[in-house]
Amino acid sequence: MEELLDQILNECRPYTKQGAVATYIPELSKQNPDDFGIYIISSDGSRFSAGDHAKHFTIQSVVKPVLLLLALMDNGVEAVRTRIGVEATGKPFDAINVSDKSLVPEHFNPMVNAGAILLCTMLKGDSYSERFARLLELIRRLADNPEIDVDEAVFRSERETGFKNRALAYLLKAHGLFKDAVEDVLECYFRACSIRVCSRDLAYIGMALANHGRKFKTEERFFPAEYARFVNAVLMICGMYDGSGEFAVRVGVPAKSGVGGGIMAVAPTRMGIGIYSPALDEKGNSIAGIQALERLSRRMYLSIF
Ligand code: GLU
Repeated sequence: MEELLDQILNECRPYTKQGAVATYIPELSKQNPDDFGIYIISSDGSRFSAGDHAKHFTIQSVVKPVLLLLALMDNGVEAVRTRIGVEATGKPFDAINVSDKSLVPEHFNPMVNAGAILLCTMLKGDSYSERFARLLELIRRLADNPEIDVDEAVFRSERETGFKNRALAYLLKAHGLFKDAVEDVLECYFRACSIRVCSRDLAYIGMALANHGRKFKTEERFFPAEYARFVNAVLMICGMYDGSGEFAVRVGVPAKSGVGGGIMAVAPTRMGIGIYSPALDEKGNSIAGIQALERLSRRMYLSIF
C-alpha cells in the first residue's frame, strides 16, 4: 500500500506546479507549494503514509464539517435544519449573494463561509471562547491528538484581513440570522480556520465519519450515525467548493478541502484520508491532492457510485 501511495504522489507531483498557494490571507502565502503528503487510516486500524504527511498546516475550511458535527451534537438535526440549508450554492466559498430572496437560512449551506459563520452561533457555550474551546476539544478527540492547537500567526492574519467574512457576518446579522456580536462570532470562526493539523489528523477525523461516528476498532462512539450520514451527504454535495460535481464524478467520495491545502476524504466504512498539498486550483482546491484522490479512488474502487 505504501508503495502505491509513493507511486501516486510521484505521478501527481508535477501538478503542484500548475497551482498556487493562497495569498489572500497573507500568512498562508508563506507555505511551500512543493509540499505533498498523504495519510490513510483504514477501518481495520492499519495506517499508511507517504511524502510530507507530518507537515503542519491550518485546517481552514476542513473545519466546516466538524463545526457542522458539533452543531448537530449540540442541537440535533431538526434545529440545525431551521438555521441552515443543505443545497449546493454553485458559487465560490466566500460569495456574497445580495438579493433579499437569498438571505434566508435555506440558502446558506454549512460548507460555504456564510453557513459556517452561522454554525458558530449554534454551538453551545456561555461565551464564544467556550464555544471555540469545545470545538477544539472535539477535533482533538476525533483526531486522537491532544496537541492540536491554533496557529496564532495565521489567526491574527485572518482576523486582520478578513474583511469579506466580516461583510458576510454583518449581512447575516442585518437580516436577523443571528443576534450575537459579530466580532465574537468571527473570533470563533477565524480561530476555527486557524487550527493546525497534519494529514494524519485529517485522516483520523475522516475515519470517524467513514465509521459512522464510531472510533475504529472500539465500541466507543463519538457521535450518532445519523450525524455522520448528514455530514457526509453535505460533503458529497458541496465539500469541494464549486468543484464538487466534478469531484463527485472523478473521485466519488465525500470530502472537504481548505485553502490551507488540506483535503479530508471519507470512504464510508473503509477509510479516512488526509492530504496536504497547498498549491491550489482556481476554485481553492488542492490541485495535486485531487489528482491523487482520483488515482487512489480508481485503483481501490472507492467511489460510492
Ligand atoms: N479562513 C478561510 C476564509 O474564511 C477559510 C476558507 C477556506 O478554506 O475555504 O476565508
